[in-house]
Amino acid sequence: MTFDLPPLPFAPDALEPVISANTLSFHHGKHHQAYVNNLNNLIKGTKFENNYDLEQIIMESDGGLFNNAAQVWNHTFYWESLGKESRGPQGKLLQAIEKDFESFDKFKEQFSDAAAKLFGSGWAWLVSDTSGNLKIVQTSNAANPLTDGFKPLLTCDVWEHAYYLDYQNRRPDYVKSFWDIVNWENVAARFQ
Ligand code: MN
Repeated sequence: MTFDLPPLPFAPDALEPVISANTLSFHHGKHHQAYVNNLNNLIKGTKFENNYDLEQIIMESDGGLFNNAAQVWNHTFYWESLGKESRGPQGKLLQAIEKDFESFDKFKEQFSDAAAKLFGSGWAWLVSDTSGNLKIVQTSNAANPLTDGFKPLLTCDVWEHAYYLDYQNRRPDYVKSFWDIVNWENVAARFQ
């Protein structure tokens, strides 16, 4: 069994000017593809070769195998977190955000802070716990909130490869623009 690189769920220029087609060609075509290739090489000869899904591998592996499996999952989840023409969170999701963060603006402020200030490479996440409470968490490198028992709802990739071609060292500017391309319909569907 091998894993495939899922196609982007939008056209390569769909996220411009926030994320350029050039960034997407490297980020999806080279970085995400490399994680898929590494994963396929690393599962050879292990139990994970036999019909394990990606989430099972993430829960049961460590080291390089975990890093590549989690990065495959994280990137697919990131692409599916993005899109254009969103009206922002609505209904039950908006109510939950207002309950746990006071307001949508305060949530955006806290998430932006978590994304901008995360030291080194990693991810900022909106997750829900087993009681349905929302939390913002940071993970380093490939780490993923699934292994802490959280349900991921939204993520922002803050590895330099996510923004360097478009924003160079200005990660806070990338994070500020990120709000223009969040696919809130998909975030709400995950929250259901
Ligand atoms: Mn990335």
